Amino acid sequence: MSDNVFKLIYFVGLIAAGAVRFHYTRLIRKIRVVERRGLWAERPLMLLAWLAMQGAPLVYIFSPWLDFADYRLPAWASWIGAGLFAAMVLLLWKSHADLGLNWSPLMAIREEHRLVTRGVYRYIRHPMYAAHFLWAVAQPLLLHNWIAGPPFLPIFALIYFLRVPREEQMMLDHFGEAYRSYMMRTGRMIPRLRGQTPIS
Ligand code: SAH
Repeated sequence: MSDNVFKLIYFVGLIAAGAVRFHYTRLIRKIRVVERRGLWAERPLMLLAWLAMQGAPLVYIFSPWLDFADYRLPAWASWIGAGLFAAMVLLLWKSHADLGLNWSPLMAIREEHRLVTRGVYRYIRHPMYAAHFLWAVAQPLLLHNWIAGPPFLPIFALIYFLRVPREEQMMLDHFGEAYRSYMMRTGRMIPRLRGQTPIS
């Protein structure tokens, strides 16, 4: 019974995150990409990530096919997962709202790309990726299944470690000193405590 509650919470979070993504994907649709930094493994890894965060969970939630790989967790751990998942939706929405038309699902510079250093970007450089880590930690707490729960965490960690140095290099190449000094004021996913200066 309580497993179903947590499956429902996962499903609602998935729909909420999907709605945020859908809205911003439509907004950026017409804005031309002027530079793409590719990585050959990016698309296969994105497909794997999609399977791990949506494909397998939907099969698990709506069919009994993966039930052979279930595990058990105490309810309190799953409630922590529910809290983390709710925080994920808020952080995903906030980072999309702050990044606005400068967002791309793959690494890219768009026409009239602006460096965003306000909102949640004032404190950390990668709030959207932080939201995905919250997702990846919450998922196995909500979905008690070895196939539908944990695999997104190592897949996203690999994407993160491959992508972030390249993304930051792209931003440095494009925004130069402005991004360098932004890096000095912020942490990647945890705010910097020292050396932070107010930004208008
Ligand atoms: N790494 C960021 C953004 C992810 S979306 C985060 O986790 O929140 C990826 C795109 O965002 C990249 O193509 C890059 O062009 C853009 N981007 C990343 N940081 C940015 C910033 N501070 N201002 C404007 N665009 C940014």
